[in-house]
Amino acid sequence: MDIKSLSLDELKTEIGKLGEKPYRAKQLYEWMHVKLARSYDEMTNLPKSLREKLAENYEYTSLKEVTVQTSKLDGTRKFLFELPDGNFVESVWMQYHHGNSVCISSQVGCRMGCRFCASTLDGLERNLTPSEMLEQIYAISRSTGERVSNVVVMGTGEPLDNYDNLLRFIQMVTDENGLNISQRNVTVSTCGIVENMKRLADERLQITLALSLHGSTQAKRQELMPIAGKYEIDEVIDACRYYFDRTGRRVTFEYSLVGGVNDTDEDAENLCSLVGGLNCHVNLIPVNPIRERDYVESERRNVLNFQHKLEKRHINATVRREMGRDIDGACGQLRRRHAKSGQLEICPGD
Ligand code: SAH
Repeated sequence: MDIKSLSLDELKTEIGKLGEKPYRAKQLYEWMHVKLARSYDEMTNLPKSLREKLAENYEYTSLKEVTVQTSKLDGTRKFLFELPDGNFVESVWMQYHHGNSVCISSQVGCRMGCRFCASTLDGLERNLTPSEMLEQIYAISRSTGERVSNVVVMGTGEPLDNYDNLLRFIQMVTDENGLNISQRNVTVSTCGIVENMKRLADERLQITLALSLHGSTQAKRQELMPIAGKYEIDEVIDACRYYFDRTGRRVTFEYSLVGGVNDTDEDAENLCSLVGGLNCHVNLIPVNPIRERDYVESERRNVLNFQHKLEKRHINATVRREMGRDIDGACGQLRRRHAKSGQLEICPGD
């Protein structure tokens, strides 16, 4: 059993089964989720006999830091971690004026097939457990020595394709007995799995939902995102409206601008019609070209023109700051490179 994925209540039950006093559960939980202990050995106020019993009966998930790359442009750090089974995941640490943000992966690989994304090129390997999601944050916290205030689930993987583990992760990372990150500082990004968007809305959490839109009509979206063949664009937008109605949380739309593909005036107009009237925010992301595809980013003036068109229609739009471009900042590039070569091949300015 994976001890770091247990809630405090579940841990109390387990500790009871071992014949220990209930307050030991609280101590143990604190070691794992507040003091971010790397192993049972560090838990010095637990009797050695208990630590031994724990080690015999429960797996203690911790990630091995394989590489850290620090951006010379903005200090963003990209981590490659090895999971207990030898798989790799990547996570990113970013500093903003409002605090430190960590972007975590939710799966090893991804099966969604978005055309511009490197994470999906080799398909899905497996889901991450709650503890493996938590550990990405904990390991970064230990490495940087800094508090993490924001979490975005926007790394490799489709979080709503790993729903139960994601939900447990959210509950644990926002738990007052753990890191106690405010729900409002947690964002989950999805390619638009409608039934799970609604399910998430019904959990009535205060987290932010971000929808990867990338196309403003059904046809355009489907060109870039195979998942759009399963869920019509109107259905996905309805699910966003439902999310807002249930939670009162403004939805974010992510729109990666691909030169000549989805960045024309007509695309901007269509986007206005699509999301106008919804309480939302549009995040424009100049696409980060990956080697395996020939997509190019929009020209700067097209990006600004696109933003301007939205703002004229009173749609809140920002151009995302591109962090860590010099360190394989875009989804899945680092892990993929590592997997292909067995070691890191660092390409400055790539
Ligand atoms: N599966 C989820 C979360 C992971 S992807 C989702 O689809 O939202 C996080 C965001 O990065 C998504 O908006 C995704 O479309 C975008 N993305 C992936 N590869 C990109 C690239 N090369 N350039 C720009 N954005 C990219």
